[in-house]
Amino acid sequence: MSAPLLEVRDLHKHFEVGSPGLFGGQQETLRAVDGVSFELARGETLGLVGESGCGKSTCARTLVGLYPPTSGQVMYEGEEISSLSHRDRAPFRRKIQMIFQDPYASLDPRQTVSSILTEPLRIHRLARPRQRRLRAMQLLDAVGLNPRHIHRFPHEFSGGQRQRIGIARALALEPDLIICDEPVSALDVSIQAQVVNLLGELQERFDLAYLFIAHDLAVVRHICDRVAVMYLGKVVELAERDALFDDPRHPYTRALLSAVPHPDPRIERGRERIVLEGDVPSPLDPPTGCRFHPRCVERGEVPDNRCVTVAPELGSRSACHLPGQA
Ligand code: SF4
Repeated sequence: MSAPLLEVRDLHKHFEVGSPGLFGGQQETLRAVDGVSFELARGETLGLVGESGCGKSTCARTLVGLYPPTSGQVMYEGEEISSLSHRDRAPFRRKIQMIFQDPYASLDPRQTVSSILTEPLRIHRLARPRQRRLRAMQLLDAVGLNPRHIHRFPHEFSGGQRQRIGIARALALEPDLIICDEPVSALDVSIQAQVVNLLGELQERFDLAYLFIAHDLAVVRHICDRVAVMYLGKVVELAERDALFDDPRHPYTRALLSAVPHPDPRIERGRERIVLEGDVPSPLDPPTGCRFHPRCVERGEVPDNRCVTVAPELGSRSACHLPGQA
């Protein structure tokens, strides 16, 4: 069997925050990503969901090398890339690209679209200048923008069009995998579906894999093949999309899904909502045992206070002590 396109093994990303200083301040460890493992196949879309602050974006940035991991491994087609030097990582940087949440902030306002789209080719010394421009025009066409607008600046485009430019830039180096960090959440609802559909079309055309980070579960259900649910730096459930949405096993997943309105008003009226109490605890001082235990309405069903004392491992499906849920 061939290796998965991407394999993440027990990834940790911790940050030291605060400084000892003159006045007795202390350094603390912020455990943003704390033992995350998953695989992604070529052409597959894996959703990564959870409340803000759960570590999704830090995980993404660590995967693309924007942060060095504290420990753990990132394997690309069976080759370990997380410990490579910046130079040795260059060929892999081409293959793993990223789309950011904010199309306004992620494009340099002083650069024309031509410059934005040819820059990755220049950096990686691919193609001659004239070919680069042609390639930029092809990319604009691929994302549904007019190639004749290549000399315009980002402010001359709408938010949805700017995100299309961000997608075109990610495609410039012909990647195998695009990490999409909340790619539609800054866009108007009417535009979101167009961008999600475009991502689907490009996936088929270029055989792309996506790691799709989002908090909008309706979008995730539409585009993802499998879904990983993160809570406080850990994956608490990982399953095929339909299995996860039809039969969520982890109490946190159940609570997240219960907040998604059902399109049928009759079902919506009779639906039970699980209201999570309190906020996500601080990753500076995560709870003992199961990190979800202070907010879990089902922990009383687990004997011997195990939820408070023993951290559940991620089983074939979820990380929970409830019988039959792992
Ligand atoms: Fe709830 Fe316990 Fe399962 Fe954690 S391990 S989700 S606290 S039942």
